Amino acid sequence: MKRLAVLGSTGSIGTQTLEVVRNNGDIQVTALAAGSNVNAIEAQIREFHPRIAVMWDADAAKELAVRVADLPVRVLSGMDGLIEASTADDVDIVLTAVVGMIGIRPTIAAINAGKDIALANKETLVTAGHLIMPLAKGKGVRILPVDSEHSAIFQALNGENPREIAKILLTASGGPFRGWTREQMRDVRPENALKHPNWAMGRKITIDSSTMVNKGLEVMEARWLFDVKMDQVQVVIQPKSIIHSMVEFVDGAVIAQLGTPDMKLPIQYALYYPERRYLPGERLDFWKLNQIQFEAPDMENFRGLKLAYEAGTTGGSLPTVYNAANEWAVGRFLDYRIRYLDIIEIIESSMAHHQVIANPSLEEILATERETYAYIESRWN
Ligand code: NDP
Ligand code: MG
Repeated sequence: MKRLAVLGSTGSIGTQTLEVVRNNGDIQVTALAAGSNVNAIEAQIREFHPRIAVMWDADAAKELAVRVADLPVRVLSGMDGLIEASTADDVDIVLTAVVGMIGIRPTIAAINAGKDIALANKETLVTAGHLIMPLAKGKGVRILPVDSEHSAIFQALNGENPREIAKILLTASGGPFRGWTREQMRDVRPENALKHPNWAMGRKITIDSSTMVNKGLEVMEARWLFDVKMDQVQVVIQPKSIIHSMVEFVDGAVIAQLGTPDMKLPIQYALYYPERRYLPGERLDFWKLNQIQFEAPDMENFRGLKLAYEAGTTGGSLPTVYNAANEWAVGRFLDYRIRYLDIIEIIESSMAHHQVIANPSLEEILATERETYAYIESRWN
């Protein structure tokens, strides 16, 4: 029986992961970790009986320990807790679905401990891909993508020689503001941006999808996962999210993965790879589908994507600045403290201000994150 640790178990990906576990019935959940949602994790503990449960927040951990005192579960907190959950002897695979750069340390620790990684937390590869991919290779552990586009690419590459990739065609819905000008986006409020046309996701990634920053992060994620150059990753707008991504090979052949939008498919594929299991749900009906529409992305009105190409092409510590500035800005936007278009302004000005470090260590990446926050706070608060 496969033994699984879920980091970010109470979120959108985390709960869908546990749904996959529940439906299949042959994965043992040995650790669960989340931020501060005591009610949700308590219910999960009672259903899945993990040996370790982690609340990032120390007070939440104390409260949780009292609530589950009747169960044989160890309750931990903070970064030490996340690392223990992802490196314990009784874990085979760690699914990382926390939001943001908090995922880096536990992921590196898990790889060092020889655990396979089912990776949803894209911020980890964006900022530390140059450390994580060689480390995983050296340790012989698999990085199995959970992000739907990257899972599609991974599926398209089954049995292929990765050196024969010409380019990766990363599809994007374009989000709720596709076709809008910057002028039209000026007064967007969080409740407008939180409506995604095809996917129900966590709050941060939903905002990122609306600004196309999510696609920018995914281009950088793809570059590391599939060992290609930034300019080999081409974003293609496909508004209905039916094609989840494609690979073009050197001979001109294009292989795509299609399906109805359901994150449980890439989650289940990562957990059971290379096996495919039955997954209940809607199927594509090609008789009704009759057309699939494509467009080029609008990098002038959605500058977040253009900035991602700049950050990824320069590389080094610049993707960390891009990501950290976006994390900060999206948090403030959701709290109604900055305006929608400020998100991109903040990313752009943080990138312009930063002195790039060519091949940053983990400490330098984390220091770059702190410095980016300090810079933004001195200018925008
Ligand atoms: P959610 O906001 O829905 O969930 C985030 C999870 O992380 C929650 O369980 C939350 O716990 C937990 N968490 C937050 N902060 C911490 C912390 N400091 N320590 C431990 N746990 C923490 O996010 P999503 O599920 O949408 O996204 C998770 C990741 O997956 C992101 O990197 C996202 O980009 C990526 N992703 C998501 C997709 C989706 O469809 N949702 C698709 C592709 C990628 P609590 O509930 O207690 O706050
Ligand atoms: Mg995605």
